[in-house]
Amino acid sequence: MYVVFSANQESAEGMEELDDDIAVTQTQVNFTCPLTQVEMVIPMKNKTCNHLYEEAAILGLIKTKHSQKKKCRCPVVGCGNSDVRESDLILDQILKRKIQNQKRNSNR
Ligand SMILES: [Zn+2]
Repeated sequence: MYVVFSANQESAEGMEELDDDIAVTQTQVNFTCPLTQVEMVIPMKNKTCNHLYEEAAILGLIKTKHSQKKKCRCPVVGCGNSDVRESDLILDQILKRKIQNQKRNSNR
């Protein structure tokens, strides 16, 4: 335990806490795509609602919906995001690496 003396130090501490949070949540992350129900290979994160999908699955769903002139709802049950766009999706590099590492371990 230590005392924070300045605002700068406080923000540095905040960043450390964020790292810890990521480490904790990653152990609980479920690698299954809500669309395909299989383990994701290229996990795309929706920056609007923070849900994850397999890249090909979510892009296919968006295309299908948009070709029907419909909005693409987030496929995660209980999610309030009713307009998922391709531009909201970002590749989750950290999770992708995690999945690859896990695969390597389970193939042993
Ligand atoms: Zn969502």
